[in-house]
Amino acid sequence: MYAIWNLTNVCPWNCSFCCMSAIGANSQNNINVLTLNEKMKVLRILADNNVKIDFSGGDPLYYPDDFSVVETATKILSPEMIDVSMTGVDFNSSKLALIKKVGKVEISIDNPPNATNKYRPKGFNSSVILILERIVKAGIFCSGVTTLYLETASKDNLKALYNLLCAKKIPKWNIFRYYLAGKGFFS
Ligand code: SF4
Repeated sequence: MYAIWNLTNVCPWNCSFCCMSAIGANSQNNINVLTLNEKMKVLRILADNNVKIDFSGGDPLYYPDDFSVVETATKILSPEMIDVSMTGVDFNSSKLALIKKVGKVEISIDNPPNATNKYRPKGFNSSVILILERIVKAGIFCSGVTTLYLETASKDNLKALYNLLCAKKIPKWNIFRYYLAGKGFFS
């Protein structure tokens, strides 16, 4: 069994089309639905039942509590049983070391850094490419993830993105279909 676990609905970005309706990190409405203790119990249940977990969000490495849930997962599950999809915002040596234990990571990138995208905050794609570069340099397997929608689905954008990912030696590119959901329903 495979579970995508959105550890938090908080994300340091605030994309207007977010299908998860993620909440900005500075919002007054930040809600962590489960306590750390409850999350650890859920982790134990999933691990005991041999469930593979994709930690996602929001950003599953943004809050220290969520970071510690993923860190605990690396101690009780083998790396093949863990995936992490993160933004890479506030990336630091602790996050790098954690990702190294997991052995792989996914990050969304929709356009080359110089392109404009009205659905993504300014600096989104340039931030992602810098983090992907750092991860590649550290010898960690990583995937760029592109979602197809109006601002991304052109041949020119996909070709430019492909060439960029190749130039940066990013080993894997996932392309997803966009599902109209969450904030995306209104953008
Ligand atoms: S980075 Fe992803 S999770 Fe965060 S606001 Fe944007 S679409 Fe939502």
